[in-house]
Amino acid sequence: MDERKELMLYLHVPFCVRKCNYCDFLSFACTEETRSRYVDALCRELRERGREYSGRIVPSIFFGGGTPSLLSPAQLSKIMDCIRETFSVRADAEITMECNPGTVANLSQEQETEKLRGFRAAGINRLSIGLQSANDEELKLLGRIHDYQAFLKTYAIAREVGFTNVNVDLMNALPGQTLDTWKATLERVLALKPMPEHLSVYSLIMEEGTQFAAWESQGKFEGKLQIPSEELDREMYAYTGTRLREAGFSQYEISNYAREGYACQHNVGYWIRKDYLGIGLGSASLIDGVRYSNGTSLEEYLKDPLAGSEEEILTRSDQIEEFAFLGLRMNCGIRRADFETSFGEAWDGYWSEIIRKNVADGLLEEDAEGIRLTDRGRDLGNYVFSQFLFD
Ligand code: SF4
Repeated sequence: MDERKELMLYLHVPFCVRKCNYCDFLSFACTEETRSRYVDALCRELRERGREYSGRIVPSIFFGGGTPSLLSPAQLSKIMDCIRETFSVRADAEITMECNPGTVANLSQEQETEKLRGFRAAGINRLSIGLQSANDEELKLLGRIHDYQAFLKTYAIAREVGFTNVNVDLMNALPGQTLDTWKATLERVLALKPMPEHLSVYSLIMEEGTQFAAWESQGKFEGKLQIPSEELDREMYAYTGTRLREAGFSQYEISNYAREGYACQHNVGYWIRKDYLGIGLGSASLIDGVRYSNGTSLEEYLKDPLAGSEEEILTRSDQIEEFAFLGLRMNCGIRRADFETSFGEAWDGYWSEIIRKNVADGLLEEDAEGIRLTDRGRDLGNYVFSQFLFD
């Protein structure tokens, strides 16, 4: 077994064809020339920062965004070559790329096939496709650049070129969505052949500064476009868990479901607080208890990718809080032994009363190993997590 300390890699590609109406991620449209300069800046940052971590082993790489599938296969290969020259990447590393159907589906069948085959050849072995909804009216309202047919085309080609580990991102609690329209989306996704290995399902959050937030304050989300009530949101959540279990998925985190052996290793790494290095505009890193954040000005990043980076040393309390509220997101919960290995003491001094109360309320279950949320606790996750924060 390789004893080297692990370091996951995240690469941020902040470009999108256009902004979706609900999105508050760091992403924007750009020219081909900017994209090419950005790839060079990413490689520069990888080489500069990588020097410090030559003794680490990389178990997973994640290209997120924005829309990483806007890159060409040649650009992606250039970044992957740079990663392999700079870091030791485990032979079986999970290498994920987020893919937006609209960025490939406007190509001809041959071009799209070639593009996805190129990503595969560059080393991507897990594709995460942003579908969000299988209902074209909902996709239009969300401001997505694709319809359901475009997704079907991308999905089929992804399978054809050999992607055997595919996630589909979905969103519920959309304005105007009913339990029936949500069920129809789920059924369409479950009818895909072969079925996706992984599904991520998040409820829509009205983020400040988005088009959706503006429409909400202008009263657009009324009548037919009413935002689902909290009760309906919970009903959708409960239905999703039951239906996906029936279909052979197991829920391993509040919003994530996988067929056996396909939990996302990279995301699990975040929740158990593995070290990760974020490369690219606005990306964050957590290494040996220090959080680093890159600047968010594209102009400055292109000039000097290392300028504008800030560091915050996490206190012991910060780290203990994170251990609890990230770990409890997962269905397996948190283990006493892991706490003791990380912090050199038992957790009783911090949480025994909170655990007792939440067990009594049916929100947590406890055994000799540790604690985890119950089904009811998952429903009220934010309430449970808030109790594990220090004042
Ligand atoms: S594709 Fe993703 S990152 Fe880009 S605007 Fe839409 S939601 Fe945001």
